[in-house]
Amino acid sequence: MILELEALTHRYGDELAVDDVSFGLEEGELVALLGPSGCGKTTIVQAIAGHVRPTAGRILLRDRDVAEEPPEARRVGVVFQESTLYPHMTIRENVAYGLASRDIEAGRRAELVTEYLELVALRDQRDAYPAELSGGQQRRVELARALAPQPDVLLLDEPLSALDRALRERLREEIARIQDETGVTTLFVTHDQEEAMSLADRLVVMGDGRIAGDGTPRALYESPPTPFVASFLGRSNALPATVVGREPLTVALGDREITLPSSDRSLPTGTPVTCHVRPEDLSVRSSDAAGTGGTAPLLSGNVADVTDVGRRYDLTVRIETGDELVVEAVDDPPTAGERLAIELPRDRIAVFDADGCERDRRAVATGVESRPPVVPSDE
Ligand code: ATP
Repeated sequence: MILELEALTHRYGDELAVDDVSFGLEEGELVALLGPSGCGKTTIVQAIAGHVRPTAGRILLRDRDVAEEPPEARRVGVVFQESTLYPHMTIRENVAYGLASRDIEAGRRAELVTEYLELVALRDQRDAYPAELSGGQQRRVELARALAPQPDVLLLDEPLSALDRALRERLREEIARIQDETGVTTLFVTHDQEEAMSLADRLVVMGDGRIAGDGTPRALYESPPTPFVASFLGRSNALPATVVGREPLTVALGDREITLPSSDRSLPTGTPVTCHVRPEDLSVRSSDAAGTGGTAPLLSGNVADVTDVGRRYDLTVRIETGDELVVEAVDDPPTAGERLAIELPRDRIAVFDADGCERDRRAVATGVESRPPVVPSDE
């Protein structure tokens, strides 16, 4: 491991900002640290960079605990959300400044500046001042400045969030290319799940100061370990249900019973649960066709709302339990009020017990681990 956090905890006075966080980055990995505002991401970055001394825990950089060491003793490059370029220095001087504290001979320093300005395709702008560059170009200078000292770890703390959407997407690709070319181990911090999923090899999802999930984007999306991850990574419908059968697991949604493919653990009959299913995994058909063909369980309901979002329609359907489901439909949208049957694919339903949901919230305060979900498999 290049970077390893072990039981990292940080309090600002009474505020527990980071609570017992452990994860690591392998050499060359690009990991996204993802979570909503206030969940502790920046505090973790600041602790790794050496600007915050953690209340407890260890920060290992190439197996050496640096938690008590000053920033300059760590080989860590950082790019923040806001520009930190010096306005009175040219681009070349700004990048060279990042090398100033390193013991590098002047000729080699000039070479490194040129090399890294070439990497971010800004060699021709080397004598310009930051104010003469666009927002995207300024971000690229920051990247060059952070990378030129060849850090062990590059920390990118919401580097794109101040930019407009099109530029953000272009720079995201640029970052992926640069990371690939340099092979630098990178921790990319963001609250934007699409950004995280499209860029990173692995996601560490945080909620309320704790890790809520750690895995590849696809694994976390398809088998979310907690209701929080299910809802935070993409959209998820949460339907209250009750266990009515154990082997195989069968849940009742209103008066509909749904038998799920076998699961790792069985829950006692009568257990209240929440079934999570993604809008794109649901499909609708006219209620006249209900019960004909197919083996997926059907729910019926009335269309409460149809929203045209360009590429598709979002249907809000109120089912017989009174709960509302969002369903993605590609063509032929129904009209509001129409009665429909909704097909629920059994293998796309993740079941969490209500206690598990509670535990997710309580875990923040008590340190109790949340239980794994019941994610049905096809076996
Ligand atoms: P954002 O994306 O909004 O920056 P974040 O996930 O990076 O959020 P942090 O900035 O690490 O989260 O903040 C975590 C918690 O610690 C928040 O509740 C925040 O209010 C609190 N906090 C952060 N910095 C300080 C500080 N200097 N003093 C007191 N509390 C702080």
